Amino acid sequence: MSCGECCKSMRITSVLSNIIAQHGSFAEASKYYSYRGMRILSPDTATDTLLIEIDIPCDKLTSDNLCALHDKPSVKPLICHRYPWFPDDIETCGYRWK
Ligand code: SF4
Repeated sequence: MSCGECCKSMRITSVLSNIIAQHGSFAEASKYYSYRGMRILSPDTATDTLLIEIDIPCDKLTSDNLCALHDKPSVKPLICHRYPWFPDDIETCGYRWK
């Protein structure tokens, strides 16, 4: 299967209340991060988290959107082996939750 969309950007989990405290508001934080080429996704007050997404393609993603490490489990990152973590991760993806 070829896709690779989740290998083209990186998402970093951050603390929502810390981001708002630093920037004064969620809107100000979104503006700042957008100027730096990043997106703020999925703010969740219940868990006090958000995701910061940055377009950094993995250098192991091939030009035909395959993982160069797919047949090398000893060096492929664990998170790549385990993905998806939750059924919601794949709503717009070709993978299926088992
Ligand atoms: S190692 Fe492979 S599966 Fe993991 S992010 Fe890179 S290309 Fe994608």
